Amino acid sequence: MPDWDRFTTGLHRVSDKCYAYMQPPGNWGLNNTAFLVSGGETLMMDTGCDIPLTDRMLAAMAQAEPAANQVANVVLTHWHVDHVHGINAPRLRASRIHASRICADWMANLPPKRWLEAIGSLEGDAKRQMDHLIGNKFDFAGLDYVPPTDIYENSTQFETGGCAVKVIEGKPCHTRSDSIVHIPTEGVVHSGDLISAGRHVGLQFPFMRNLLELVDLMLSWDAAVYIPGHGPLLDVKDLRDIKAYLQFMQEEARRRYDAGMAVEAATEDILRNLGPYKTLRGAENLFFTIQMLYCEFAGDTTDHVRRDYPGYLAKQWELRKSVPQKFPDLFTGNAGEPS
Ligand SMILES: [Zn+2]
Repeated sequence: MPDWDRFTTGLHRVSDKCYAYMQPPGNWGLNNTAFLVSGGETLMMDTGCDIPLTDRMLAAMAQAEPAANQVANVVLTHWHVDHVHGINAPRLRASRIHASRICADWMANLPPKRWLEAIGSLEGDAKRQMDHLIGNKFDFAGLDYVPPTDIYENSTQFETGGCAVKVIEGKPCHTRSDSIVHIPTEGVVHSGDLISAGRHVGLQFPFMRNLLELVDLMLSWDAAVYIPGHGPLLDVKDLRDIKAYLQFMQEEARRRYDAGMAVEAATEDILRNLGPYKTLRGAENLFFTIQMLYCEFAGDTTDHVRRDYPGYLAKQWELRKSVPQKFPDLFTGNAGEPS
């Protein structure tokens, strides 16, 4: 079962040497980071969305383990702003920063100031959606471009205080490059945003097969705890449930694709027939996953949902209104925002 009891704001010890910093409810910008403290050295897995949130995580960690005052290594699982912007926190100034080549390139091409300009120039429904996502939860002051120091392709490994850290870069599914951090001796995995519980998993690139491959890889590690980018801590059984969910979406979309249904009609038909997945949050965003599955079935693997970012945001805004109106029974709880 997903560990809802420990899904409370703050630091939670998840193994002898590992901790997760959780940020419920896990909506846009509120991600989970993780720490390994071993032999007087510290590794941080992902950062927060801004400097104050990241400082709070680092302060909580240093209070629990004084050795964490210095963070030797940071791994960034993917370039989404909630996972990388906190690299500006003063305590991380001397840290080695590990990121995949693709993640590092994204960070170089869309540094914080350019990102802030881009979201500042949004108009209409795209602006309304971005304002809704950000709300008044964040403080983006003081953000600058900080390049990763250690860039890898496919995989990398290093030690933190004598403890082996393995990083595997996946092929496109959530972003073009999502990395998973595995600490075998602790039985701990940080999955980035590949998986989550209690909400629909969002596919942003047309590669469900890549996501399923990565879920199989994580299952093969048989870890004691999987720390997702958003939402509660997971175990192997939860991962099996997520795999079944992904296969369900793949099969349901395929059947409708083969029958010649348009992607909008197929999404609505699936929303009417969610079966065991009726209670998951974020049903309004299922459209994007079905759209990516359709591209994958058609062999069009060049598209992704953020290619036209303002258009993507405007579509989210429209779906946030229209889907709950058409399917009120799917929205008895809070809506889930894409991460
Ligand atoms: Zn993400």
